[in-house]
Amino acid sequence: MSRKFFVGGNWKMNGDKKSLGELIQTLNTAKLDANVEVVCGSPAIYLDFVRSKMDAKLGVAAQNCYKVAKGAFTGEISPAMIKDVGVNWVILGHSERRHVFGENDELIGQKTAHALENGLSVIACIGEKLDEREAGITEKVVFAQTKVIADNVKDWSKVVLAYEPVWAIGTGKTASPAQAQEVHDKLRAWVKTNVSEAVANSVRIIYGGSVTGSTCKELASQKDVDGFLVGGASLKAEFVEIIMPTS
Ligand code: PGA
Repeated sequence: MSRKFFVGGNWKMNGDKKSLGELIQTLNTAKLDANVEVVCGSPAIYLDFVRSKMDAKLGVAAQNCYKVAKGAFTGEISPAMIKDVGVNWVILGHSERRHVFGENDELIGQKTAHALENGLSVIACIGEKLDEREAGITEKVVFAQTKVIADNVKDWSKVVLAYEPVWAIGTGKTASPAQAQEVHDKLRAWVKTNVSEAVANSVRIIYGGSVTGSTCKELASQKDVDGFLVGGASLKAEFVEIIMPTS
């Protein structure tokens, strides 16, 4: 089964109206491959602005959301609010949420369930730390993280799995195409065994961690790499090259 290539941008806590407006202008006018789905993760405060400026063919994502619809949760935003400004995606479980803000698997699972129930699609992030890779427990770590997400998903057409080794994020140390393919292949096999063969065939498993215009092509050629989640390079015009990795 062919899976539509997916490129997510994760702007993290970067940009302002001026610079994001210019980036959006570049993306809106670029000749993008219609076979690639593009979704940009904006800081919460700019979601409305970004959605209003960005061409409708490009998706927008929040970078986080809370696990309930509303209430006394100072500083949080809900999926209902994200939907209310016309945004249809959310990134959940990003390594910075896990390791800088201390989000655990249980919370990420609850957020995933609530976001999906409220009509958002989810880019669900998983990935091992360097010491875990060196200890030979990469599979164990990513399977455990994936299980918590899977336990909270009913409709897999609304989920993209992002494998992002923590040691590769923002470090300039991209996983080699073989390293990425190995984990993606194992993740797909896990989904086949624990969810279904149909979902294993259809779910997009994207790679994130120092993807650039020069590393994207070889990564994209790997059988089980269905796209990217791009941080640093998504803030540059170079992002347009990453959206067209097979051309
Ligand atoms: P990076 O970030 O491309 O800057 O490594 C990726 C991510 O955090 O999603």
